[in-house]
Amino acid sequence: MIGGTAVSPGSRVTIDLPMARLYTHNEITLPVHVVHGRRAGPVFFVCAAVHGDEINGVEIIRRLLKIKALNHLKGTLLAIPIVNPFGFIQRSRYLPDRRDLNRSFPGSSKGSLAGRLAHLFMTEIAERCDFGIDLHTGSNFRTNLPQIRACLNDSQTRELASAFGAPVIVPSVLRDGSLRGPSPN
Ligand SMILES: [Zn+2]
Repeated sequence: MIGGTAVSPGSRVTIDLPMARLYTHNEITLPVHVVHGRRAGPVFFVCAAVHGDEINGVEIIRRLLKIKALNHLKGTLLAIPIVNPFGFIQRSRYLPDRRDLNRSFPGSSKGSLAGRLAHLFMTEIAERCDFGIDLHTGSNFRTNLPQIRACLNDSQTRELASAFGAPVIVPSVLRDGSLRGPSPN
């Protein structure tokens, strides 16, 4: 069940989670592509454009969703190509109020726009997942090596980080307010 919709094993659907409204009252949704494998397994998310101007991951997810091997997936993939649609539309890293979504987790249902979006993502996506992959892009005017940032103290996370074959893995401590941030509980 996600966003009140049941997705049965062996099926794929796109769910539009109601988010917040624009200043114009137009509703914005958070589209989530759900691939529910026929066989049981872990639930995981892959997301991109938490920073609205970091668009490489959007294309990576588009290609990921076309991979035929997903037909034999054990478990469930939740793919969110654009977590920050406000920033993406405006070609900006931030929300319209200049908050950074990746400093607004876990957010709250009555908070700022960034806080509400963060809260929606945490409750509908992250909390039901065993692990997640958050795709970022090097900021403008910077050149970055492809890199994985992960908390390498955890053996499963270390194994997952190695699986990408990236030239660099950066041990990265959990940062308050980020999607990877420590749980408030
Ligand atoms: Zn980023």
